[in-house]
Amino acid sequence: MLSEELWQAVLAQIQLNISPANFATWFKNTEITSQKDGRVVISTPNSFVKEWLEKKYSKNIFRILHSLDEQIKEVSFEIRKTGLKVSKQTAVSLPSEGQLEFQELEIDRQTNLNPRYTFENFVVGSFNELAQAAAFATAKNPGQIYNPLFIYGGVGLGKTHLLQAVGNKVIKIFPEKKIKYLPAEKFTSEVVTAIRNREIENFKLKYQKFDVLILDDVHFLAGKEKTQEEFFHIFNALYEKNKQIILSSDKPPKAIPALTERLRSRFEGGMIADISYPDYETRIAILKTKCLERKTEFSEEVLGYIAANIQKNIRELEGALNRLIAYQRLNNRSPDLEITKTLLTNLISTPSKVVSIKKIIQAVVEFYDLKEKEILSSSRKKEIVKPRQIAMYLLREELKSSFPFIGRRFGGKDHTTAIHAYKKIIKELEKNNQLEEELNLIKQRIFSG
Ligand code: ADP
Ligand code: MG
Repeated sequence: MLSEELWQAVLAQIQLNISPANFATWFKNTEITSQKDGRVVISTPNSFVKEWLEKKYSKNIFRILHSLDEQIKEVSFEIRKTGLKVSKQTAVSLPSEGQLEFQELEIDRQTNLNPRYTFENFVVGSFNELAQAAAFATAKNPGQIYNPLFIYGGVGLGKTHLLQAVGNKVIKIFPEKKIKYLPAEKFTSEVVTAIRNREIENFKLKYQKFDVLILDDVHFLAGKEKTQEEFFHIFNALYEKNKQIILSSDKPPKAIPALTERLRSRFEGGMIADISYPDYETRIAILKTKCLERKTEFSEEVLGYIAANIQKNIRELEGALNRLIAYQRLNNRSPDLEITKTLLTNLISTPSKVVSIKKIIQAVVEFYDLKEKEILSSSRKKEIVKPRQIAMYLLREELKSSFPFIGRRFGGKDHTTAIHAYKKIIKELEKNNQLEEELNLIKQRIFSG
């Protein structure tokens, strides 16, 4: 990565975690002046800033740099040599103690919850409304309605946010409840340590005391038999006492490989809700919410550009915004569309052929020689039902549309109709080669048009 890009990426992450005043004070007019043999030198405007960065931020800066480029082994700071460009000086407010630490340090030691994740700052759209509603209901009635609650969806789509929002809400409503959040990876390493130290019984007892246990990314348990076994016992003990269990995964339980049957059936025993991809309008809404939170603004054109180009990952959407904010704070002006494009070049890959809902429906309708009206109707005629199911299936497969959205799009049908259609086609495809061929032909129309 080029030094400038690299530094922008670091700043974007730092900015997420410290107050705007601190950011301006300590990171204005900083840059990477050299990167060689894994050594990065960061220049600072004066000795005061240099010492401050060394003392307070060097560890975090190193950690971020290293995560972006594993080759980086060392970071040092220097005072800027004269002759370099210095951007306009503005008055900066003095930092106040207590704001200096990274927000990660705000994570509650007992619960592992980060207060940043709440329902209030979670944007709801058709892509996540089932998951959000189930999570919200669970937070208000832990252990009472959906147990376990199982949320699945792709990377960066809000699973962790939602799980933690439940935890944070439960604490608010029921301060006496004992809550624990942890990623399955951490749980696994705790199991390993407990076994090594012959403390597994204590370990299990400790976990059985929680009122709400939140285990994030359980697909990580795949193939880890011993951990699965211990979790199975903890799960049962909690479940029997009506304690709430909340799980997330990147795929539904039945698609997690090497998961014991008994654990799978436990995972499937409560409520399963998915998060799919946000549509364009929701992506804009998310960007605007984040801007409000960060007390900043960008032109519609700039937000539209981000939303149009980053479609499948809300974390990346935020990452793009962070870069723009970093630029804005350092240069005291908002980037226009051209600058935005350069700032985001390595985040945004050139979009492949754009597939739209319209295109999919059009292709199916043309292929089966129907009218759009017919496929969106409620007709039960066989020659219409099948193409309709195929179109629903394609919307799900190609656009990752949510089931409620698909249902609505097809003349206000229920999400169960969409789920049924999707499953029906998957099943049919297993035994019907003809159907597979038809689908391939339809896809060719979609992608070539
Ligand atoms: P996952 O756990 O699914 O990989 P995260 O929960 O970590 O994703 O979300 C990635 C980022 O996107 C987080 O910063 C989160 O706050 C944000 N985010 C995800 N979904 C939403 C949403 N619906 N509204 C607002 N922010 C969201
Ligand atoms: Mg996550």
